[in-house]
Amino acid sequence: MDLANPGALKALMARYGLRPQHRLGQNFLIDGRVLDGIVSAAGLEPTDVVLEIGPGLGTLTQRLAAKAGRVVCVELDRGLVQVLHDTVQKAYDNVEVIHGDAGRIDLHKLLGERLAPGQKAKVVANLPYYITTPLVMRLLEEELPLSHVVVMVQKEVADRMVSPPGSKAYGALSVAVQYYTEPRIVLRVSRASFMPQPEVDSAVVSLRYRERPPVDAPPEAFFRVVRAAFGQRRKSLVNALTSLGVEKAAVHAALEAAGIDPGRRGESLSLEEFAAVARTLWQRT
Ligand code: SAM
Repeated sequence: MDLANPGALKALMARYGLRPQHRLGQNFLIDGRVLDGIVSAAGLEPTDVVLEIGPGLGTLTQRLAAKAGRVVCVELDRGLVQVLHDTVQKAYDNVEVIHGDAGRIDLHKLLGERLAPGQKAKVVANLPYYITTPLVMRLLEEELPLSHVVVMVQKEVADRMVSPPGSKAYGALSVAVQYYTEPRIVLRVSRASFMPQPEVDSAVVSLRYRERPPVDAPPEAFFRVVRAAFGQRRKSLVNALTSLGVEKAAVHAALEAAGIDPGRRGESLSLEEFAAVARTLWQRT
């Protein structure tokens, strides 16, 4: 049964005595065109292992199971885990449902146990909005065996991921996403594609992991500079960077050596410029 319509979802929830839980970000997709767009952006092959975070009632899971080799889902809501048993686990022998919190579960272990040596997994999900940013940061920073993330996020978050230096939406999330991946907005999605309707529009983003970082700087030093620059948004770069415990004169000298005007704001720096500052501050040229 295709679940991508309000009637089917309502009937299913009623049968199990469930209601959508706002606090868990339960806005279920009811638009087949959007679901097909997500699956197509992931470019699934029969050998792919897919991690789906928050499968809900299984609407997207059904489509993933039809294309991928294996689908592992992590769902926090115990009531939905029971539904998923009936909607997807019984119907597809390549779907596994795990009851757990995607923010806490050991993803290294989970993926390592299911991938062939050298293989990388894909994450495909309509993410719960209340934890989108920390979850995406986990997927980026934990050096997981992943090649591609295709996720539905709030429109504003998608814009932040792809925005260039100096724009209003540019921030620490933009830098991290662009450092680890090549981000692209593949689909803009109206709030009318969900049940219940959220208060915001959404977008599907494709994040393809880079083979290597696009700039040359030790990651730890690079992200220390980025965090300091965006942590003190209204300050000039030179003042913001003194929060790293470096003398103002040394920060000044490092910025000049990197060819960057110390009066600039952190939010105007490109990834290359952040890397140049990190290299000069830690004398690694
Ligand atoms: N995939 C379904 C769909 O597209 O219709 C549901 C998506 S809904 C936006 C988000 C799902 O994530 C819900 O099923 C919710 O219960 C689940 N969820 C919320 N927090 C979670 C967490 N920390 N770990 C795993 N799943 C979570």
